[in-house]
Amino acid sequence: MDTIHLKELEKIIPDAGRLIPFDLIEDKFLSDALGHRKGRADALVFPLSTGEVKDLMAFAYQYELPVTPRGAGTNLTGATVPHSGGLVLDFSRMNRILEIDRETLTATVEPGLLLRDFQQTLEERGLFYPPDPGEKTASLGGNIATNAGGMRAVKYGVTRDYVRGLEIVSSDGTVIMLGGKTAKDASGLSLKNLIIGSEGTLALITQCILKILPLPKISMGGVAAFPSLETGIAAVTQILMAGSVPTSIEFLERNVVSLGEAYTGLRFPFPYARAYLVLSYDGASRDAVLNSMELAEGAARNAGAEDFMMIQDQAVLAEIWQIRGCLVKAVEAVSEQEPVDIVVPINRISDFIDYVHQLEGESGMKMTAFGHAGDGNVHLCIMREKRGAEVWKRELEHVMSALYRHITAMGGLVSGEHGIGLSKRPYYLENTDPENLYLMRRIKAVFDPKNLLNPGKVYQ
Ligand SMILES: Cc1cc2nc3c(=O)[nH]c(=O)nc-3n(C[C@H](O)[C@H](O)[C@H](O)COP(=O)(O)OP(=O)(O)OC[C@H]3O[C@@H](n4cnc5c(N)ncnc54)[C@H](O)[C@@H]3O)c2cc1C
Repeated sequence: MDTIHLKELEKIIPDAGRLIPFDLIEDKFLSDALGHRKGRADALVFPLSTGEVKDLMAFAYQYELPVTPRGAGTNLTGATVPHSGGLVLDFSRMNRILEIDRETLTATVEPGLLLRDFQQTLEERGLFYPPDPGEKTASLGGNIATNAGGMRAVKYGVTRDYVRGLEIVSSDGTVIMLGGKTAKDASGLSLKNLIIGSEGTLALITQCILKILPLPKISMGGVAAFPSLETGIAAVTQILMAGSVPTSIEFLERNVVSLGEAYTGLRFPFPYARAYLVLSYDGASRDAVLNSMELAEGAARNAGAEDFMMIQDQAVLAEIWQIRGCLVKAVEAVSEQEPVDIVVPINRISDFIDYVHQLEGESGMKMTAFGHAGDGNVHLCIMREKRGAEVWKRELEHVMSALYRHITAMGGLVSGEHGIGLSKRPYYLENTDPENLYLMRRIKAVFDPKNLLNPGKVYQ
């Protein structure tokens, strides 16, 4: 970017600390949470208001500069790697809660607000925002742009289910309101739903109206131990069919739990078992929650569970979830890893894991699998171990291609919740109908005719 452009940018962002020229940008702003890929940008900007975002986008439109939107940078897919220069537009300083409206049960927030801070503020007021992806330092704008999922999706759904309205800035700098505080909307095409999950490729999110709920009074959990993952996964449908309403159902194999135990120094129950389901429950009364868990225990035992433990002690529960929650970091403590976030129909999880074991044998590549049994979303860590850079790249590409071809044939999808970004893009393009991609690219051309917003990502 030449001096003339920088001078113009300074008129929009006058404070020195909020406009960083290319040679002073820290690496973390040119990457994602993994830090394996690094891009380049002409400037990094931190807007404080919709007005500034509007002016920045009008500036980028005039000079045809690419814009990479950034929330907290916790994505695992290279989605915030600016690979064509231009501006990195970081929303972290637009982080206010503008309104908590108890009469419509909505909250209006700026996109840079961290999920952790939002959840805590609501909980202190007896309110609740259910979407709960593992990384609590992600921003709500990033959560919306990736349609983040998380553990509670079984009962409460994903981020999309909680977005009532969005204020956006389009690629030419126009401010547009989509949706509002209403619970229903059958008024024309849902443009709001196009923006959710679009990974910053269609528009910039500058304000979010989110549905909130009263805070459940009671929470409990349970662990079911199984002789095999297959029996455990088969039990999931039985538990749901019995009328039990878990908040989350996670599956873990013993070998993965051992990594978590080593990492945390904690002990998981039933060490003899080969596989586990970890369940959580919440509700308005203790009796209702206990009843739901009893239904789960009965169904799990009928389906072959060797043991079942109900956990009401919050400290014990916290330890179980600490082990589940640390698994990505536990793997990374042992080896660099490439995360995979596929989703299959819930009855195909154990077929998929069987295939993973087969692929491990064929490729010699070690993989750990765990994830959301209640919604078919499997997280796989493919481990680099001691491979040199060239071998790692070649073998990883081979294994990833095979995996994604297999899940597509099973009726699954490339990403359940992390998104496509840069790193999953080749596999996404390979495994998505051309007609589907054609429509997405046409939609992109309408929203962003100069192809400025997060170019080269996802479906582009
Ligand atoms: C340890 C760990 C655990 C995780 N667990 C989960 C999980 O359980 N479930 C899950 O879904 N994800 C998970 N993630 C992934 C990540 O936290 C989510 O994708 C999250 O939604 C990203 O939010 P962010 O604010 O960090 O966005 P960023 O990483 O900054 O950006 C993500 C995408 O959103 C776009 N974007 C950001 N802000 C805006 C905006 N205001 N307007 C337009 N586009 C924007 C960016 O361009 C990019 O494409 C995990 C990550 C880590 C590191």
